[in-house]
Amino acid sequence: MKAPRFAYARPASVAEALALLDKYRDDARILAGGQSLVPMLNFRVASPKVLVDINRIAALAGIKVTKTHVRIGALTRHVELERSADIAKHLPLVASAMPHIAHPAIRNRGTFGGSCALADPAAELPACALALGATFVIAGKKGERRVAAEDFFQGLYATALKGGELLVAAEFPLPKPGCKSAFGELARRHGDYAMVGVAGQRLARNSLRVAFFGVGDRPEVVEADTVDGILAKVEIDLAPRADLHASAATKLHLAKVLAGRVLGGLAA
Ligand code: FAD
Repeated sequence: MKAPRFAYARPASVAEALALLDKYRDDARILAGGQSLVPMLNFRVASPKVLVDINRIAALAGIKVTKTHVRIGALTRHVELERSADIAKHLPLVASAMPHIAHPAIRNRGTFGGSCALADPAAELPACALALGATFVIAGKKGERRVAAEDFFQGLYATALKGGELLVAAEFPLPKPGCKSAFGELARRHGDYAMVGVAGQRLARNSLRVAFFGVGDRPEVVEADTVDGILAKVEIDLAPRADLHASAATKLHLAKVLAGRVLGGLAA
């Protein structure tokens, strides 16, 4: 199928993009890498009247390391995260997640912001943002606001973004020396969305923070002092839903098996 008719705008700045989003409100949709939105248009799952293409807004792109955090611009492509020495050094969890996201052609265009704004419950980057305690930077008519990852992902394809707002970046706190991370997922084929995934970080000797994805309507965080503590909490804290891949019981079982395998490396 072909996409329905739409008007097209290509703002050159965040201010111009916000003016367009404010003008067209629910009739507008932001176009970033287009790897999810274009299929949605072609399948007529989405039919916005205006596409606001943010690809020429240089201020939204790139990775910056400061004394306190790593800032990832919304328009940073997956491939840039995959190849970045800064990400490998400071956010190894994100680096290890990247090869699991789709395939090289999709990673060449897909963006960090698109992935987080879409909020697919089986996506890798939202889970990493949650595990690492990232904060999302959102721009709107009244200026910028910051939302913690816990509050950003609000349900199935639902986020804290409101009409007229644009996701600008996410800020990941620089991990303390000695922090360890571990990532793994189960997928039917490499590059498919995960059936179940685990993104975990050891923050200090007695503090583990683990985000599970593909197990509910959004990534879910589980915290405990030890790996055994996490495994014990999985059954209590997670309530997976059956989906195309597996029953709820199978998903819970897979989450426990995967967590056991992946989190071994985080033992104190
Ligand atoms: P777009 O498709 O351009 O936009 C997606 C949505 O986000 C739209 O609603 C858009 O309006 C909104 N949006 C985009 N940017 C912003 C912004 N800055 N502010 C506010 N809203 C914004 N993803 C995974 O995580 N894991 C996978 O395993 C995976 N497998 C895939 C396999 C295939 C075959 C395909 C086609 C895609 C797959 N994806 C996967 C999705 C891919 O990662 C997408 O690139 C990503 O989900 C969306 O990013 P995008 O830049 O293409 O966004």
